[in-house]
Amino acid sequence: MADFTGDSPAGTSSRGYTRRQFVASATTLLLLPVIPRLARAGTIVAVRTWPADEYTRVTLEMDAELKAEHFTLENPNRLVVDINGLTMNSTIEQLVSKVRPNDPYIESVRVGQNRPDVIRLVLDLKQAVAPQVFTLKPVGEYQYRLVLDLYPKVAQDPLLAIANNALDADPLAEVLENLAQADSGAAPIPSVEGQQLPAPAVVKKPGATPPPVRSAPPSVDRPLLVALDPGHGGEDPGAIGRGGTREKDVVLSIARRLKKLIDAQPNMQAYLTRDNDYFVPLQVRVQKARRVKADLFISIHADAWVKPTARGSSVYALSQNGATSSAARWMAKRENDADLIGGINLGSHNQQVAKVLLDLSTAAQINDAVRVGSKVLREIGKINRLHKKNVERAGFAVLKAPDIPSILVETAFISNPHEERLLKSPSYQDQIAQAMLVGINEYFAASPGLARRA
Ligand SMILES: [Zn+2]
Repeated sequence: MADFTGDSPAGTSSRGYTRRQFVASATTLLLLPVIPRLARAGTIVAVRTWPADEYTRVTLEMDAELKAEHFTLENPNRLVVDINGLTMNSTIEQLVSKVRPNDPYIESVRVGQNRPDVIRLVLDLKQAVAPQVFTLKPVGEYQYRLVLDLYPKVAQDPLLAIANNALDADPLAEVLENLAQADSGAAPIPSVEGQQLPAPAVVKKPGATPPPVRSAPPSVDRPLLVALDPGHGGEDPGAIGRGGTREKDVVLSIARRLKKLIDAQPNMQAYLTRDNDYFVPLQVRVQKARRVKADLFISIHADAWVKPTARGSSVYALSQNGATSSAARWMAKRENDADLIGGINLGSHNQQVAKVLLDLSTAAQINDAVRVGSKVLREIGKINRLHKKNVERAGFAVLKAPDIPSILVETAFISNPHEERLLKSPSYQDQIAQAMLVGINEYFAASPGLARRA
C-alpha cells in the first residue's frame, strides 16, 4: 500500500500562505469561469475491463475530461495511474471486482485517494506491459473515456497464434511454423502435439547416411487461408437490436461457426482477426490478414436501420471512387465509425502506417472481391431474403487490403425483430456460415492457382 502514500507532496498547511501563494490562488479563482472543465471535479460513471490475449483494456468513463499520468514499476510489475480532479466513489471501487481471474495481464487492481483530488490506480500485473494511456471525447452513448491499454512488451505474432491454437494434426501449422521461423529467426514454436523435441545429437560415422530429418513441407502447397473478421467487439457493441442482441456477439458466433466449417475442409484454414470480446481497430484487422497472407478476407456484420421493417442480407466490396448507392455510403460510414466507438489511440505511430497501407488499394482485389461476393450473396439468398441483389460497393476501411480480395457481409438486420431472432438462433448462424462456405468454395474452385504460395 506504500504506493498510495509514498509520493504525496510535502505537507502543505492551509495556514501560513505566503503572499505569493495567495496571489496564485486568486489568479486561479479568476480563471475558473474560463476553464470550468479543469476546475470541475469529475465523477466516474462506469468502469469496464476487456481482457484478451492480444491486449487488455481498462476503460474509465467519466463525466468530465480529466488529466491522467502514468508510470510503470518492476519487481513486481505494476502500472500506476494518477487521475487528477477525481474523488472516490463506489463506481471506481467496482473496478477492483471487474478484474477477471483469466485476465492475461492484470492480477489485481488497487484504488485509493492518493492526494486530495487525485485518485491513484495501481494495477498489479502478471507480466511486463507496454501501456498506452489515452483519453477519448464523448461519442455515441459514451461520455469521456480514459483508456488504459496493456500490451505485452513483445507483441503476439498472429502466425504463432494460429500455430499454437491448432488442434490435432494440422497441415497449416507446420507451414506456418516454418514461415514464422524464416521470418523472425525466432526460436521454434512448440509442435502441434505441444511438445518441443530437442534436436537429436548426431554423431556422424564415416559412410553412414544421416538420420532422417523432418522434411520441409512442399513449398508450392499450402492450404487456402481465409481471414474471418467478426466486426466490432469490446467497447464497440456494433448495432443493438430491440431485444438487446448485440452485433458484436452474433457476428463472433457466426465467424466461429464458419471457422469450424472451413477448418474441416481438406485444403483450407480460417484465421479469426478477433476470437474474443475485445476491440480490434479496423486497420489492425487488415494488417493481421496481410500478416498471415490470407487469400480471402471476410468481415462479418449485422445491419441496422432506424425503421424496423428494413431486412435482408447484403454483401459489400470496396470502392475507391464513390459508393454505388447512398445507402452503401451510409453503411460504410457507420462501419468506419467503429474506430471512434471502439476507441483508438490517435497518438499511436501506427496511424502513419495505416495511412500508407490504405492508399495502396488495387483494382484487382476489388474485382476478385466482387466475384467472391456475388457467389456468397447468391448462396445467402437461398436461406434469407436479400436486401440488395448485387454486391454493393463503398469505401469500407476494413476492406482496404491492397492484395487480398475482401468482402463485408451484412448477415441480416439486427434492427428488424424477426431477423434479430434469426441472428440469435444457432440454426440460422449455422445456415449463414454454411452458405458463406459454399460461396467461398465456389470462388476458390473457379480460381485455380489463386493461393499465394509461401
Ligand atoms: Zn457492423
